Amino acid sequence: MTPRGAIYPGSFDPVTFGHLDVISRAAHLFDSVIVAVATGEGKHPLFPVADRIQMLKESTCDNPAIEVVSLDGLLVDFARDRGIFTVIRGLRAVSDFEFEFQMALMNRKLEARLETVFLTPKEDYTYLSSRIVKEVARLGGDVSPFVPAPATKMLKAVFP
Ligand code: ADP
Repeated sequence: MTPRGAIYPGSFDPVTFGHLDVISRAAHLFDSVIVAVATGEGKHPLFPVADRIQMLKESTCDNPAIEVVSLDGLLVDFARDRGIFTVIRGLRAVSDFEFEFQMALMNRKLEARLETVFLTPKEDYTYLSSRIVKEVARLGGDVSPFVPAPATKMLKAVFP
């Protein structure tokens, strides 16, 4: 059987335990997972893409089936380049649904072969978002329960 891969795109600004939970679930379902870190200039990320990639690489280095790369441009173009047409997205709550639904349908309009698979994290992580973690860090809170050590370190460097 041909190996089945999947792409997990996102901003990961920074990576949280919620993202890592989705990555490990995807790695159980697929032979390989490409975590595609959107450069996302329009979103004004806190961390440059190189830092977001580094945090993810350090947090997933124990699994050789996980690759972390940058994503510049359209996801469908990336999918075509790689020949992988399965996209992973996380669904935490109903509030994620509207946006994720729109994205999935738009991506499929742009590339009919593209399918989006939604994974739900462990309940403990359903309240976690990169945005709220950044807010806690900015206000001087301890973010170590929410993000892996490389992200805690980089957040501390930005918000000492
Ligand atoms: P975006 O790609 O919208 O900028 P993120 O990088 O934060 O957002 O997230 C990438 C994907 O991971 C999205 O599908 C998002 O819903 C999902 N996600 C984010 N945080 C969590 C979490 N705590 N649990 C599960 N999925 C999550």
